[in-house]
Amino acid sequence: MITTVRIQKRLFIGLVLVSLLLISLLAYGIWTISFSGLARISAWLPFFFGTVMAVCLLLAAIGISGIVLSVWGVKTLPVFQNLAWTAVNLLFPTAIRIGKLFDVDKERIEQSFIEVSNHLVKQKQLVVAPEKLLILTPHCIQNDDCPYKITRATDNCKRCGQCQVGELLSLAEKYGVKVAIVTGGTMARKAIKGMRPEAVLAIACERDLTSGIQDVFPIPVVGVLNERPCGPCCNTRVDMQRVERTVADFLGRTANTGTKGVTTNGGA
Ligand code: SF4
Repeated sequence: MITTVRIQKRLFIGLVLVSLLLISLLAYGIWTISFSGLARISAWLPFFFGTVMAVCLLLAAIGISGIVLSVWGVKTLPVFQNLAWTAVNLLFPTAIRIGKLFDVDKERIEQSFIEVSNHLVKQKQLVVAPEKLLILTPHCIQNDDCPYKITRATDNCKRCGQCQVGELLSLAEKYGVKVAIVTGGTMARKAIKGMRPEAVLAIACERDLTSGIQDVFPIPVVGVLNERPCGPCCNTRVDMQRVERTVADFLGRTANTGTKGVTTNGGA
């Protein structure tokens, strides 16, 4: 049974705004303290230093405004979308720290980050060729008792229906996209380096998705959270309809038959 969790984007946006405020105060403090020392080197240096910091903070503020406008449904120019996307990725670590201070659950912040990041990627309305789209999933989606080694060669999967690997492979075939089943972050990065996709649909838990999205930035990634009915990293599942809709969105098509067009050789 796949459940859908409604995640609030505003949690991450709020934390990012607080992060920017604190970073601005910190920058102002550093500038004030270093002013006289810099002035001794050159009368222009404090102003140069101050201008560089002010421009960086202004760009971050424009980026965050871009996120807010985008979440409100306002269409923004590509330059704002890029700034928003950069700001989201750069300010994420600070947002997590601020969240910790306010005792906000890290997983909730990560879910909110993934929602915001997905929203920004989707707003770009990218259309990629099927061979340039990669579905990336961790191997914990494979049935724990399955004897076949599928991380090196997905063809080893017999599509028996005991897990969703067969469905994912059929979906990939149906749309002509690539799929990689990996054992961890290092293998995921290796797969992306080798396959050179223009966009990635990543299936993983909150922690792996947030780190993955930032690791492969600026390659656009839409993250789909996995389900863990047996606990972490074991017999995980994913909402296949959501995966199919995301694939179709990236290809500029309509997901025509849901997952009914995805075949397996046995019952799930
Ligand atoms: S679908 Fe069957 S053969 Fe394929 S990975 Fe899952 S359990 Fe193994």
